[in-house]
Amino acid sequence: MGDTIFDKIIRREIPADIVYEDDELLAFRDVNPQAPVHVLFIPKQAVATLNDATAADASLLGKLLLACADYAKREGFAEQGYRTVVNCNEDGGQTVFHLHVHLLAGRRLHWPPG
Ligand code: IMP
Repeated sequence: MGDTIFDKIIRREIPADIVYEDDELLAFRDVNPQAPVHVLFIPKQAVATLNDATAADASLLGKLLLACADYAKREGFAEQGYRTVVNCNEDGGQTVFHLHVHLLAGRRLHWPPG
């Protein structure tokens, strides 16, 4: 069992604004939003970084992205557009070592990111 802040959210030990949950995934609003919509999609299973995912996690990784797209469609901003981001390790800007996909939307996002 992992012990990051996200594992504590999964175990309901700390509060979060949860917007989606199923058997394998949880999604909640980022506490420090970088866009009007900023939701984090995480697997309930502890995977620290994208580097730690294996072929056995292929379905889980796919489900994370599909959950982002489903959320965007449900919330009505899929056509307008959005961005999904996975930060990995220090240079990627990862600060929480439980794999997560950022879903950002609600404003025109810049490219390249900083
Ligand atoms: P990373 O930098 O890609 O690892 O993203 C971690 C994200 O988690 C950051 O955008 C933080 O703002 C967010 N975050 C950290 N703690 C919490 C929390 O307790 N609830 C919701 N989001 C959090």
